[in-house]
Amino acid sequence: MVEKTLAIIKPNAVRNGVAGKILAMWEEAEFSIRALKRVQLTQVQAAGFYAEHEGKPFFGGLLEFMTSGPVVLVVLEKENAILDNRTIMGATNPDNAAEGTIRKLYADSFTENAVHGSDSPTSAAREVSYFFNVFELTA
Ligand code: ATP
Ligand code: MG
Repeated sequence: MVEKTLAIIKPNAVRNGVAGKILAMWEEAEFSIRALKRVQLTQVQAAGFYAEHEGKPFFGGLLEFMTSGPVVLVVLEKENAILDNRTIMGATNPDNAAEGTIRKLYADSFTENAVHGSDSPTSAAREVSYFFNVFELTA
């Protein structure tokens, strides 16, 4: 099934100047870039986005990191986009990420792990509409 998934190029990757390299990896893997924008998230926006992790020990550090600089928000589309993006991203902890994955190449630590990707159809639908309105998705 053709799916959309929400990806984020996180602040460490933008700061390190590898946003373009990450976008190129998605295009080489045949994802279509359906929408894209650079923003600096507020604490409230980041907390709402990561609401499922509220109360966990890493939540404060995650919000501090995600608001520490601009991010690039991307809607990717292809057949099986959600799972295929999780595969190309690599494991959450970059120490466990497979060779050639985005996190293996561009993560700086467990928290500063370069990219986000939706983990299910339900979260993809929520996350795409959290950041993009219908007019931004029709081009
Ligand atoms: P994301 O949701 O960002 O795509 P993920 O789905 O692979 O990542 P989650 O379990 O949803 O992983 O965690 C969200 C983010 O919180 C991780 O990407 C990472 O930045 C941070 N994080 C998660 N667990 C830890 C941890 N134990 N220590 C430090 N940071 C963590
Ligand atoms: Mg997640």
